[in-house]
Amino acid sequence: MNKDVLIIGAGPAGLAAAVTLLRGGVEPIVLESSSRAGGSIVTHRENGFLVEGGPNSLMLEKDGVEDFFHQLGLVPLEASSEAKKRFLVCAGRPVAAPAGLFGAIGTPLLSLRGKLRVLGEPFARRAPEGDETVGAFVRRRLGAEAALRLVDPLVSGIYAGDIEKLSLRSAFPRLHLMEEKYGSLVLAGLRKRRAAPVRRMVNFAGGMAEIPNSMVRVLGEDRIRLGAAVQSIEKNAEGWRVTWLNDGEKHVALARCVLLACTPQNWEKLPLPASLSALLRPWHLLAAPPLSVISLGYAREQVAHPIDGFGMLAPGVERRKILGTLFQSSCFKGRAPDGHVLLTTFLGGSRNATLTSEDEASQIKIVRDELNDLLGVRGSPVFTHITRWNRAIPQYNTGHESLLALLASASKTYPNLFFTGNYCAGVALPKTILHAITTARDILEKLK
Ligand SMILES: Cc1cc2nc3c(=O)[nH]c(=O)nc-3n(C[C@H](O)[C@H](O)[C@H](O)COP(=O)(O)OP(=O)(O)OC[C@H]3O[C@@H](n4cnc5c(N)ncnc54)[C@H](O)[C@@H]3O)c2cc1C
Repeated sequence: MNKDVLIIGAGPAGLAAAVTLLRGGVEPIVLESSSRAGGSIVTHRENGFLVEGGPNSLMLEKDGVEDFFHQLGLVPLEASSEAKKRFLVCAGRPVAAPAGLFGAIGTPLLSLRGKLRVLGEPFARRAPEGDETVGAFVRRRLGAEAALRLVDPLVSGIYAGDIEKLSLRSAFPRLHLMEEKYGSLVLAGLRKRRAAPVRRMVNFAGGMAEIPNSMVRVLGEDRIRLGAAVQSIEKNAEGWRVTWLNDGEKHVALARCVLLACTPQNWEKLPLPASLSALLRPWHLLAAPPLSVISLGYAREQVAHPIDGFGMLAPGVERRKILGTLFQSSCFKGRAPDGHVLLTTFLGGSRNATLTSEDEASQIKIVRDELNDLLGVRGSPVFTHITRWNRAIPQYNTGHESLLALLASASKTYPNLFFTGNYCAGVALPKTILHAITTARDILEKLK
């Protein structure tokens, strides 16, 4: 078959690129190795509980993703006002987290000395040359206590990673730019207060799966080949010749462009041309620690804590076994049956990776013990669900920019090869989708 663009990977990035291409009048075909579309998005319904095994919410900004969703017919479900409140574990108890830098002054999470250090932020040393880690940046600007007590848990809530390895420039480019432009986060906060982008935390009535489902409907099932095992990817004069197996049957497509929208750790097994494979080899080592997402349902009266917030995160210094827990049913309607609550806990990440290799019953026991201790949860859950990720979230560690430079060189050598996915421009779903849309537009330009 002849196709304009062959996309490898039917996660949100591959699907969003395919939809954008189709709307631009170009025919895509998407090859997906697993038996379902949606990648990291996994919504599960059981006995009145609606569980997210992957992303559980997203931040909508006026950046094009909202319009994209609107065109797909998606109706965002706004998070409750309670979701603005977050808890950080301190001395074995969940304590309300400060809202922004200015709130840090009144928080019981920092000692007086820690607060004075935060107040000294405008006088912090200038940024050193090179790719600074998030940990070094926060210690330099806000002090060691703020790094340990405030930033470490918040960062682990996004990346399940390590602030001593994550690159400030790559993982939090906005903070890096704020320092570059204003010389201080406090000054940037004061200047930008009015101009701050309006961000809304949302999910959907039917869960995050509404996103891939709506894109699959637009594309039609024939444009997405599930269970496809790619056998060869060869460059020829017109573009690319790609072969794959589906249920033992061989298929061939001639495509003008190829878009890699699958996880870089899987590129090792992709039969790419030898020189391309060699160029991309450093990407195989991209860190993405394992994670277990454990959802437990309880009758409301089993939980002593008011769970009146988005959730709680535990800093590493607290030495808890869990990374944090989301109070799902407090944030979004329809997550638990009447009179019940749904708590989703994250175990593993770079902090406690080995815990994820324990069997499911042991992992659930760990979570139950922690919830008992931190939230006063009593008795057995009425519902349990676990999603295990061997490689959850790619880490934008120091050196990530040099990995991205390899993609730029690959695209120079192979001008009709493109890349998209959560390894390119941010791990959050909106950033991933936006990158996919932008890349698809670049392809449309190329094919004009
Ligand atoms: C547990 C968890 C919680 C998260 N929470 C949030 C959150 O709350 N908010 C938020 O904004 N983001 C969150 N994220 C991040 C976000 O979900 C991901 O970054 C995003 O979904 C990644 O999309 P993607 O299309 O790049 O990759 P993926 O979703 O990983 O999709 C890649 C696809 O490629 C396929 N594939 C791989 N190899 C091949 C191959 N050889 N051939 C064909 N297909 C292949 C895979 O099967 C998969 O379907 C979370 C992620 C995880 C794992």
